[in-house]
Amino acid sequence: MSELHNYGTTHLDGLPEQVRIWEVGPRDGLQNEKAILPVEVKAEFVERLAEAGNTVVETTSFVNPQWVPQLADAERLLKRLSTRPGVRYPVLVPNERGLARARSLGVQDIAVFASVTESFARRNLNRSVAESLEMFAPVVDAARADGMQVRGYLSMCFGDPWEGQVDPHQVVPVARRLLGMGCTELSLGDTIGVATPGRVTALLDALTADGIEIGRIAVHFHDTYGQALANTVAALRRGVTTVDASAGGLGGCPFAKSATGNLATEDLLWQLDGLGIDTGVDLRKVVEASVWLAGELGRPSPARTVQALAG
Ligand code: MG
Repeated sequence: MSELHNYGTTHLDGLPEQVRIWEVGPRDGLQNEKAILPVEVKAEFVERLAEAGNTVVETTSFVNPQWVPQLADAERLLKRLSTRPGVRYPVLVPNERGLARARSLGVQDIAVFASVTESFARRNLNRSVAESLEMFAPVVDAARADGMQVRGYLSMCFGDPWEGQVDPHQVVPVARRLLGMGCTELSLGDTIGVATPGRVTALLDALTADGIEIGRIAVHFHDTYGQALANTVAALRRGVTTVDASAGGLGGCPFAKSATGNLATEDLLWQLDGLGIDTGVDLRKVVEASVWLAGELGRPSPARTVQALAG
C-alpha cells in the first residue's frame, strides 16, 4: 500500500460531527459475488473490518441458500466470530424460520428486507408489498420481544428497473409500517443507484414531515451512475448520521438488473475524513482488508480509493 499522506481536512457547514458507517461488505457485498469464499476467509474479513474500528459489520443472511448460495454457511460463520465489546454483527432474516436460526446462535441484531415497489417485491420476495410486510410483522415483533435491534431495509426507494421513478409518497407508508411494527431503524436503499441529491433531500423531507425521526434513518447508496457520494452529502445535510457502505465496493444486487456498485467504504471514508467527520474507522486498515480479500476473490477491488492507495 502506498503511503497515506494527509491532504488536509476542512469542515463544511451543516454536516454532522460524527457518522456511523454500517459496513455491509460481508453480507450485501459477498452475496453478490460470483466466487463463494471459504468460511474461514469470511470470518477473517469480518474480524478485520471490526479491527478497523467499525461498530457494525453486517455479517450474513439466513435467506434460503437456494437463492443465495454465497451465504449458505451463515451458521458456521457466526460460530467463528469472536465477540467484541461495542461491535454489532447484524444478520439478515427473511422470515420466522430465519429468526429461529438467528436466535439459536445468540444473534442480537437482525435486519428485514422490504421492497417499496410491487415489481421488486414480486421478484425478490415472491409477494406483494403488503404481503411481505405482513410476513415481517411477526418476525419483528418476536425479535423486539427478545430485545433484539431490528433494521428495516427499504429497497428501490428512488427508482425501479421495471416501474421507473419511485416517488416519496410510495416510500413513506412502507417506512411508517416498518417503524410501526417495531423496527428500530430504517435503511433507504437506492438499489439501482439512480438517485441524485435533490431526490434524496426530497425523500428525507417527506419522511420527516410525516413525523419520522431522522435519527432512525440510514442511507444505502449504489454508485451505478457515480452519484453515491453526492447523495451521501445531501443526506448528511438533512441530519442522517448512519451511512451504509461495502468494503472494497463489493457487491450490487443479483435480482435487480444493472444494479452494480455498492458505495465503497474506502471512498466514503476518504470523503468523511477530508470533511473532518469522525467515524472511528481506520481507512488504511479497511484498504488492507479489501486488498487481501480481492486476492481471495481473484480480481482487483473496483473501489477507486482502494486502487489509488493499493499500489
Ligand atoms: Mg447494496
